[in-house]
Amino acid sequence: MREFDYIILGGGCAGLSLAYELEIHEKLKNKSLAIIEPRVDYKKDKTWSFWKIIPHNFDDCVKKSWENFSVNIPGKTNYLVCKDYPYQSIDSGLFYKKINNKLKENKNIYFFKDINEIDKKNSFVFNSIPNIKKNHLNIWQHFCGVEIETQNNFFDSEIFNLMDFDCEQRESVHFFYTLPYSKNKALVETTWLSKMNDNTQKDYDNQIKNYIENNLKIKNYKITYKEEGAIPLFYPLIKKEKNMINIGTAGGMTRLSTGYTFLNIQEHSMYIRRNIENIVNSKNYEISKKYQFLDEIFLRVLDNHPEKMPNIFFKMFKTSPKTVIKFLSNKSSLLEDLSIIFKMPKWLFIKALFY
Ligand SMILES: Cc1cc2nc3c(=O)[nH]c(=O)nc-3n(C[C@H](O)[C@H](O)[C@H](O)COP(=O)(O)OP(=O)(O)OC[C@H]3O[C@@H](n4cnc5c(N)ncnc54)[C@H](O)[C@@H]3O)c2cc1C
Repeated sequence: MREFDYIILGGGCAGLSLAYELEIHEKLKNKSLAIIEPRVDYKKDKTWSFWKIIPHNFDDCVKKSWENFSVNIPGKTNYLVCKDYPYQSIDSGLFYKKINNKLKENKNIYFFKDINEIDKKNSFVFNSIPNIKKNHLNIWQHFCGVEIETQNNFFDSEIFNLMDFDCEQRESVHFFYTLPYSKNKALVETTWLSKMNDNTQKDYDNQIKNYIENNLKIKNYKITYKEEGAIPLFYPLIKKEKNMINIGTAGGMTRLSTGYTFLNIQEHSMYIRRNIENIVNSKNYEISKKYQFLDEIFLRVLDNHPEKMPNIFFKMFKTSPKTVIKFLSNKSSLLEDLSIIFKMPKWLFIKALFY
């Protein structure tokens, strides 16, 4: 069986981002790479959104970008501006196409459906298959979104709604998220932060229909696309091995308080590319310990007091938008962290420190 210098296990967001980053920086000129991916064909299956706080390789896959957003709880709306760090939505269909077209040009890059088709003994492996053990205490961000097209112009396409808590909470944390792509097209998503121990919150279709018809008050619309997913708000198990690095969700690239992962994956890819010549000895890359610690406390509060979370999120966005965005994107200074921490209900967070 054939051997390769590098193997990427899983050709999803992290695997392909890394292969692309290595390819465009000519790190695969004299090296062979095998990408192991079981899917038969690539089609749009996700919409990746984030505040663009650092440059990345996929501006041409951006479906829409916004400089204004809102957050609301029943009876109150906060309008915010994010001109410095626009919120971008990436179409995964365009992303897969762009990367696969580029990778095809390099004869040193091979695709396989199964790892057993090759010999991996002497390769360096980048693994994006998460090792998740079922645990009923773990919290997930689970969601379902639909893209709709309305008969009449309805949306203000210049402002998106990050969180609308004006919906049933069912003793959990639940909000809607609306990305208006144009005056008559939008992604509307129902999102839950919960332990997902049963299926009672998964009547997504009803939740979305009810929200579109009764909250947004849209009667004539058609659904053109649907996506569903669950992001672990805990770190998958990482087995340390000399010739392997975990990447993507498997590599702990998710910010646990928000589920945002895409831009962390891009930063991790750049880090690997810079260190590829000495990857065996390079330092482990991770989201800073400061955020790991703060997110853990935040999730404890969420677990103990789900009913308080709409207000807590609302208050968090009462800080300057630039500060909150930097905080949520792992780029805040200590002063900025403190300005957010001071907005939080102190007693709940202090209690959560000691559980
Ligand atoms: C629907 C959805 C929407 C999301 N939206 C956002 C967002 O808006 N913003 C954000 O920052 N994050 C978002 N995320 C979180 C995160 O960015 C994505 O999950 C992202 O795809 C993670 O990349 P990954 O490479 O770790 O996993 P994936 O993209 O899932 O890639 C893993 C790949 O491994 C393959 N695979 C599985 N088993 C094997 C095997 N045994 N051998 C080989 N290959 C295998 C899979 O087919 C897949 O292609 C979203 C997640 C989901 C599910």
